[in-house]
Amino acid sequence: MFKKEMTCIVCPRGCILTVTKKDGDYQVEGNLCKRGINYGIKEVINPVRQVTSTVKIEDSIHPRLPVVTDKEISKDLIFEVMDEINKVTLKAPIHYRDIIIKNICGTDVNIIASRSMDHI
Ligand code: SF4
Repeated sequence: MFKKEMTCIVCPRGCILTVTKKDGDYQVEGNLCKRGINYGIKEVINPVRQVTSTVKIEDSIHPRLPVVTDKEISKDLIFEVMDEINKVTLKAPIHYRDIIIKNICGTDVNIIASRSMDHI
């Protein structure tokens, strides 16, 4: 029987989940709410994460701009995505939610600006 333990990261409570698979069905225990069931099952089938990082920006009030994925991506792709993010150098100004990298690594996920950043 498949069995995996993990901490639910959906909210700060951090329930310890136990996910088991029996006769083809997943069961989740230890969750205090329904969101833990979805998280636990998704985490064993296809774990995903939202990625946050920063990119270099020139002519700006700060040297780096915070960016984030506009959707969650497969955990397996995080290093590939970070490599692409690290290649980018922007020029100010940038506006909140501007698309910095479209369709990163063919995932249909965009890297967007987490804040605006003005020209010096
Ligand atoms: S199971 Fe519900 S209450 Fe527990 S950490 Fe996850 S989201 Fe929070």
